[in-house]
Amino acid sequence: MDDRLGFAVLLILMLVTLAMASSVQTQPPAEISGLRHHQHADFFRLVLEVTRVREYSSAELSQPDRLYLDIYQARLNSSLQGKTFEFNSPCVRQLRLAQRNPTTVRVTFELQPGTKEKEKIYYLKNPDRLVIDIYHRQSLSAAGQPVGPEGPQSGGGSLLTDKASINQPPKAAIPTTSGYSLVRQLGLGVKKIALDPGHGGTDPGCLSQGGLKEKDVALDLAKRLKSILETQGGFEVFLTRETDISLPLEKRTKLANEKQADLFISIHLNASPRKTRTGVETFYLNFSPDPAVNELAARENASSSKNIREMKQIVDKIVKNTRFEESRALAEKIHRQLLGHLKQHFGPRDDLGVKGGPFWVLIGSEMPAVLVEVSHLSNAKEEEALKTDLYREAIATGLFRGIIEYVKSLGKGS
Ligand SMILES: [Zn+2]
Repeated sequence: MDDRLGFAVLLILMLVTLAMASSVQTQPPAEISGLRHHQHADFFRLVLEVTRVREYSSAELSQPDRLYLDIYQARLNSSLQGKTFEFNSPCVRQLRLAQRNPTTVRVTFELQPGTKEKEKIYYLKNPDRLVIDIYHRQSLSAAGQPVGPEGPQSGGGSLLTDKASINQPPKAAIPTTSGYSLVRQLGLGVKKIALDPGHGGTDPGCLSQGGLKEKDVALDLAKRLKSILETQGGFEVFLTRETDISLPLEKRTKLANEKQADLFISIHLNASPRKTRTGVETFYLNFSPDPAVNELAARENASSSKNIREMKQIVDKIVKNTRFEESRALAEKIHRQLLGHLKQHFGPRDDLGVKGGPFWVLIGSEMPAVLVEVSHLSNAKEEEALKTDLYREAIATGLFRGIIEYVKSLGKGS
């Protein structure tokens, strides 16, 4: 790409991410003002009327079977606070609404045991609304058919005029212990792992004083980690690139989705104008109010071929990211293990934290996805270390330990 064009794209990216960040800080929370439901032949549909939604996540719980949706940076209209609704539906028994904490609304569906086939959750505009479709197991004949956009013709009646138990006193929402996501609930475990070596081809990533290129180090680290994961962990491992090729950011999660990977880990090396800065910084996909994070994201996003119009879709895609909690848990474990391992063997370094950030490469993943900046090419000590097999093996081992800790936590809810 022409340098000036590249700079313009970078600048726009930074402005977009900064604008997103500032909007998070200044805009009021989304308000959930109303709802309606309808029982279709194959699924139960709930439509939540909202002012706007930034982010949500969903997960399942058992005993009793429940599906819940957490809507972040949101509040319930006072008329809906603590409300409970009963249904005579093949799949959904009860719906509860609660302001879980000052910024999170939890919508809990209590299900008829063992009846849920799948759910679809999506966000529509004009007017803004969140739609939750819960398919039941019986009469699957038409379940595979695509569902059209939620519209007035299919939105169903107003819940408030329904014969649902609106006159019953609202029940207190049953406390739902957080952390039991779908993956954990079902004990699905992790079999296939996608590793994504950052950059490649015409995009070298950041460079060290001595000429080390991020793209080369990241690829080498991914290969080392692949080897450990296969031999010591028994995992199936897939690399988004195995050679020095250019690979668009948006293709990387797409490849991982196609391979049906259970985890996605993008490996990068950091660079900072502050040459003394060392250590590990780990990210999951989210908005960030931190200018430093947005600056880094702009740099990591710089090779994206997306135009400005497509850039706007980032907001929607982040909103639709339902792997939020899992990704954060994975990021925390990888971060802790890698940093701990490096400190133990190579001395003190900075703990730069686990953070949300708007990284293109994490968008669209159907599995928990993290981006880890494993060390700094801009720091002389870490650069020297990165030249050695010993240090690279230590990074791979630290990442491996983090992945193992995460996999072991599945089913335990820790
Ligand atoms: Zn990078």
